[in-house]
Amino acid sequence: MGRAAAAAAVLAAAAACAVAGVAVGRRVSSRRKWGRVIDVLKELEEGCDTPVGRLKQVVDAVAVEMHAGLASEGGSKLRMLLTFVDNLPSGREKGTFYALDLGGTYFRVLRVQLGGQRSSILSHDVERQPIPEHLMTGRTKDLFDFIASVFKQFVEREESGSGYPLDRRRDLGFTFSFPVKQTSVSSGILMKWTKGFAIEDMVGKEVVACLQEAFTRNGLDVRVAALVNDTVGTLALGHYHDADTVAAVIIGTGTNACYVERTDAIIKCQGLLTTSGGMVVNMEWGNFWSSHLPRTSYDVDLDADSPNPNDQGFEKMISGMYLGEIVRRVILRMTLESDIFGPVSSKTPLMAAMHEDDSPDLTEVERILRDILEVRDVPLKVRKLAVNVCDVVTRRAARLAAAGIVGILKKIGRDGSGGIVSGRSRPDTRMRRTVVAIEGGLYTNYGMFREYLNEAVVEILGEEVAQHVILRETEDGSGIGAALLAASNSSRNVDTVQML
Ligand code: ADP
Ligand code: MG
Repeated sequence: MGRAAAAAAVLAAAAACAVAGVAVGRRVSSRRKWGRVIDVLKELEEGCDTPVGRLKQVVDAVAVEMHAGLASEGGSKLRMLLTFVDNLPSGREKGTFYALDLGGTYFRVLRVQLGGQRSSILSHDVERQPIPEHLMTGRTKDLFDFIASVFKQFVEREESGSGYPLDRRRDLGFTFSFPVKQTSVSSGILMKWTKGFAIEDMVGKEVVACLQEAFTRNGLDVRVAALVNDTVGTLALGHYHDADTVAAVIIGTGTNACYVERTDAIIKCQGLLTTSGGMVVNMEWGNFWSSHLPRTSYDVDLDADSPNPNDQGFEKMISGMYLGEIVRRVILRMTLESDIFGPVSSKTPLMAAMHEDDSPDLTEVERILRDILEVRDVPLKVRKLAVNVCDVVTRRAARLAAAGIVGILKKIGRDGSGGIVSGRSRPDTRMRRTVVAIEGGLYTNYGMFREYLNEAVVEILGEEVAQHVILRETEDGSGIGAALLAASNSSRNVDTVQML
């Protein structure tokens, strides 16, 4: 038989089968399609698996990379940036201070009144606005003019009737949550953008100078007394309330962490002297990478399609900017294998809402699929599938973040490995109470994420050690902490406390 004849025969046979078995075929094909979709889910589950053994490998890798990043400039994907914060607020700061917090999604303006006693933040006012998308990829001047004008309106509104002249001098802490090479506690140069920002003419510029120029253009007299990362602000507030706070983690649009390091362990900066003997180090952990991280084809594709390929690998598995996108890619793949969903877009908060739907027939999932994603008539088993996908992606993210936290504790000897011997604590090596401050929209608003993270920390450390480790959620710490640091660095307040 020639090739054409053979093809015709196959086609004829196929057509005959098709005609004969349309009804049965539909059932079989839909069963087959469903099987393929389940295979996609299984493959995802396997690819995202994070048994405790693997998490411990990640913990070790984090600690090793921290050492390498402290040993030499460029020694690790963890940049381990100096912050020049060598003392944390004492609690004795007094007066009115301001903060600007430029996150990845939101911009916040804060006014904080300090009463001069520990934990006596008399009041704080916050205004939060989404950052207009066009400003994230526009020009430096436009972004900073927006910041200065929102600040000006805030000040006018907050202080109307107070008798303060608009042009009086104000002290401010600026939370700028992008990698900055600090040159002092109140100055630094932008190294690169993350979280979807791409303002080319800003990279390599002095951040505070850009802000200061915008204030001048807007007729405001503001002294930027501290330039801090959001993690550092969170650590400052955490430490203000609880002196056992040694590290801070942000899990919002992006993710990052900082902690208090001994100055003599910062080998790349020989001769660094601080009165406290320590300094806060901004890890920039979003860029952490290790072969132990469970990476799937969805992660590879997401990275390749992102504006910053091969960058921020840890962040792309963990934070709010990416989780919804991973889920969207999985669902798209399921749709290609069958036709269960149709095209879908997914943002992380929607994903969280679907994931947390605990009604027996998943009415919230149905509503979101119908009203927001415009996918109609989705049967219950498919809705359950969507929840499963959210669960796998979130569980992996939360558990990896937990491994990151334990990695820090390991680096600073607070993971109990030296402190508790064969289940009995000895008085001389007792595990010290250790607090880690955490904030960010993903951790705060996504209950399932928070539960998975907290649970994994206990799983990795073991119950006995974990009793001594407290994950403390702070609110607006990234901003309030910057105001506290502005206060402790202003000439009016010189008192500080030891942090080691
Ligand atoms: P920023 O990162 O701008 O400082 P946030 O810390 O408030 O701001 O984090 C905002 C991010 O947190 C959002 O972009 C989103 O990814 C995530 N997020 C906010 N609310 C939820 C929610 N309910 N469920 C899941 N993720 C959320
Ligand atoms: Mg933030």
